This record gives sequence, C-alpha cells and structure tokens, in this order.
Amino acid sequence: MESFEVIVVGAGPAGTNAATKTAEFGLKTIVLEEHLEVGVPVQCGEGVSQQLLEYHNIEYENNDFVDIHLSKQKFYFAGQKAWDQYTMLSGFSTILLNRTKFDQMFANQAVDKGAEIRTKSKVTNVSINKQGVEVTVKTPEGNAPYSIKGKVIVAADGPAGRIGRSHGIKLPTKYVHAVEYVVKGKHSQTMDFYFDHELTPYGYSWVFPKEEYSKIGLVCRQVFEPAKRLNKLMERMEKKFNTKFEKINLIGGIIPAEEQPPEKTVSNRLIVTGDAAGFTNPYFYSGISIAILTGRFAGETIAKVSQKDSDFSEKSLMLYESKWRKEKPFDKRIYEGRNLFYKKFSNKELEIIGKFADVDKVGQITSIPWFREKLLTLKAFTNKDIRADWKEYKKAIEGMSLSGKWGF
Ligand SMILES: Cc1cc2nc3c(=O)[nH]c(=O)nc-3n(C[C@H](O)[C@H](O)[C@H](O)COP(=O)(O)OP(=O)(O)OC[C@H]3O[C@@H](n4cnc5c(N)ncnc54)[C@H](O)[C@@H]3O)c2cc1C
Repeated sequence: MESFEVIVVGAGPAGTNAATKTAEFGLKTIVLEEHLEVGVPVQCGEGVSQQLLEYHNIEYENNDFVDIHLSKQKFYFAGQKAWDQYTMLSGFSTILLNRTKFDQMFANQAVDKGAEIRTKSKVTNVSINKQGVEVTVKTPEGNAPYSIKGKVIVAADGPAGRIGRSHGIKLPTKYVHAVEYVVKGKHSQTMDFYFDHELTPYGYSWVFPKEEYSKIGLVCRQVFEPAKRLNKLMERMEKKFNTKFEKINLIGGIIPAEEQPPEKTVSNRLIVTGDAAGFTNPYFYSGISIAILTGRFAGETIAKVSQKDSDFSEKSLMLYESKWRKEKPFDKRIYEGRNLFYKKFSNKELEIIGKFADVDKVGQITSIPWFREKLLTLKAFTNKDIRADWKEYKKAIEGMSLSGKWGF
C-alpha cells in the first residue's frame, strides 16, 4: 500500500496551502482531489480584498490570476426604491480573481515544494486509529478503489465537510446558498453589494464587474429559495441598468454560515480547515482568505509536531486551534454585529445605516459622531419605527467593517 506522511483531502486554497507548508518542511505529502482539474468548476464570486492578498504575502501585480482591480466598494441598503438613496462607500481595494488560475497557482506552489497533487481521486472513506490514517480512493475510470496510508490527515474537503463530520467534529451546522449568473458586459465600475432583508434574508446580492462580463448573484438561507429570488434580482437589475442581460452561465453552491467560531477543529491525527471547518466571513460568507490562512496554519502545525515527536494526538494538534483563535477574524465583535444585522435589523434599520454611515480604506467608520446625532434626531421624530438603539447600529457597522479581515 502507498504510504505518505501527510494526506490532504481537497485541492482548494485550504488544502494546497496546507500541503505547501508540509512539503516545504520535507514531509511526504499527497493532495487528493476528486475533480479532473484543480480550480474547475468555478463555484465562486471570485472577490478578494487587496489588503488580504498583501496580508498573505501573495504577489498580485502583473499576475494572471487577477481579472480586475477595483478601488472602491459600494453598499446599497434596503429595498429597490431606496437603492440610490441609501448607500455606503468604502475605499477597500478589491481584486476579482480568475479563480481557476488562483487555485492552480497554489497547487503549483505545493508541487514545487515537493507535494503530489492527484486529481480524479475521490476519498470515499477515512479510518483513523492509533497506528495511523487509511483512506479509500475512488477514480472515475471504474478501476477498483485503492487505499493510501498516512500519519495525519488534513480535511480540506470544502463546505460539505464530510470527513470532519464523520470523525467527531460537529460542524458546520448552518448554511447559506449562493447563486449567480455570469452575464455579458461590464455593468458597474465598483464592487456593488445590495442588502435587502426582504429579498435576501440572512444574505445580500451583488453585481461584480469583471473585464468582459459581470457576475450578478445573491446569497441567502436555503429555505428562502435562492434560485427564485435570483430571477427577481435579475429583473430588478435589468431595470436599474436599463438593459436585457445576455446570460452566459449559472453557478451556485452552499457556504457555511456559522453564528459563532467553530468549537472544535482537530481530533486525533485530523485537522479540519477552510470551509470544511465552517470558516467563512460571518457577514459576507466569503471564505477564500480564511481558507488560505487556516490551510497554512494546519501545515505549520503538522510541521511543528513532526519536528518535536510526531505525536499527532488531538492534544498536540491543538496548536492549530490556538493559532487560528488568535487571529482577528475571530473577534467576537464581528459575530455580535452580524447577529444584530441579520437577526434584529429590518430594512428600516438598513436604510438608516445606508443614510448615515460610510467606511474608509481601513474599514473605520468615518461618520460615527455625526451618525449618532442624526440617529437621535430621527428617533425623536419616528421613535416607533426604529427598534435598534444607536449602540446597536454602531456594533453592526463596526462588526461589518472588522469582518473585512475575512475577505472583502
Ligand atoms: C457561489 C459562491 C460564491 C462565492 N464567492 C466568494 C467570493 O467572492 N469570495 C470569497 O472569498 N469566497 C467566496 N465563496 C466561498 C469560497 O468559494 C470558499 O470559502 C472557498 O473556496 C473555501 O476554500 P476551501 O479550500 O476550504 O474549499 P473548496 O475551495 O471548496 O475546496 C474543496 C475541494 O475539495 C474537493 N473535495 C471535496 N470532497 C472531496 C473528496 N471526498 N475527495 C477528494 N476531493 C474532495 C472539492 O472538489 C474541492 O476542490 C463563494 C462560494 C460560492 C458557493
């Protein structure tokens, strides 16, 4: 039976970044990916902030994974009629990726460091015991499944996260569903987000311009039938842009939408990373950046434990948890703000945010004192319409701007 020190399941950004770290340290590493090709099919809006690429030391200038660079984001709040009235501008620079090239760049880095990436290899079973890990791999050609042995496994198997779940890790529990049309033509100069709790409960919609086309989509809880809502959104956007969209493609998928950081992400000989662990931005549900971060932490942890005594027990692997828990994306203010924003606020509160708040380049709210004063005046006149108090608005907006550390 083939044998490796590290088995990584999934060649998304979490898996390949973990593999780069373990291979760089000299550990015999294999990444098993069920699809024919890394980064295909694309199931992603492909947005990531420039600041985050810099934070991860990813060279983006003149790199072919960059489709377009946008210097501003625009947020629209509340219902369609209010769109142009209630907006918030942020100076966050965003990069729209060619996600296939981006994922393949990470895969190439892992290979350069010595890892093997094996595509068309679906892991159908994982058994873990005191001696090690054994995975069963199925190929699409109809050959008999075969097994591979390892000392430790990284579950980077995306939002369904089956491996972690079947080994005592109870996550994720909540999901949203994202659906998106790719349409011909560039329909905006900024990266536009639309928050309308009636159209997209627990979510939002977007128009992202790429070089030659646009992506128009939405995300909301599955029970609210996102596909039907997408058609409604398309009608609204056709009105707004006064055009009939020529659709090129329809994509979609599930995204973990946790209301708090995961409780547990390791067990004996197992580390769970990226979407598989439920790591996504609590406001925007973006997950590329945190997948890179937690993938790297997983690889570094395995390297460190190998260097010490190769004891891959849950206790030793807790180093991974202490690494990610220290990071800013897990700031509890983000979750508090998010829960207010999605669970308590209605479109009425969203209008107020859109009317009075702006954030600058580094995610600071630029008009808070002014915002407070306006809100108090408004409240004096229309008390019954405004359920949240000023501190709750502050928390919701601060949480949103802090969540920029996760992705957008
Ligand atoms: C429609 C949509 C739009 C999105 N837009 C954005 C966005 O604009 N910005 C952003 O930051 N995030 C976005 N996200 C989220 C983002 O795509 C994920 O958070 C990110 O891809 C997570 O990376 P990952 O490596 O954890 O998982 P994935 O990228 O999902 O990689 C997991 C890999 O594991 C493989 N795999 C799964 N099971 C097995 C198995 N049993 N055997 C072998 N291989 C397996 C899969 O084929 C896949 O390649 C979006 C998601 C969706 C669905």
